[in-house]
Amino acid sequence: MAMAHMVAERSTCDRLLGGAVLVRDKRIIATGYNGSPSGMDHCNDIGHLMEEGHCIGTLHAEENTVLQAALFGVATQGTTIYTTYAPCYHCLKKLIACGITRIVAMQVYRDTKVRDVCLKAGIRFEIFNPDGAWLDHLSDMFKNLPREAQTEVKQAEKSKHTASLNAIPE
Ligand SMILES: [Zn+2]
Ligand SMILES: [Zn+2]
Repeated sequence: MAMAHMVAERSTCDRLLGGAVLVRDKRIIATGYNGSPSGMDHCNDIGHLMEEGHCIGTLHAEENTVLQAALFGVATQGTTIYTTYAPCYHCLKKLIACGITRIVAMQVYRDTKVRDVCLKAGIRFEIFNPDGAWLDHLSDMFKNLPREAQTEVKQAEKSKHTASLNAIPE
């Protein structure tokens, strides 16, 4: 689920940052985020393509995930999808058609009766329940990234530089 959130950061339709990760036998086989098909203009560059209150310019994270699997010829039958939002009805139909057997969502986005549909389709549907230790571990992990260390060094150098400038007598 942490990886689904990282993938979501790449979304190119700012109406919703969504990400998904497809897993088979505990291995990640595809990922996707909310964005236009490869090679097409992105909402964040040209604006949304609105139709009946929805942006139709983008493919949803779940669609992009299973389409990536299709692109590379990876079977989706019997897979689990981790997604930052519960799928909308359109995506849910596609996930069922792709033979996905388990959906794990961080939260429900609009009530799409996803739970009822999954029950009927024989798909396990779960809301991800992060515990405090998991969240602490994640934030520690990002705190310790080398990039942050570099930023700190740069900031330290900058303040040293400012200090030395201030030290120059008038
Ligand atoms: Zn859009
Ligand atoms: Zn959708």
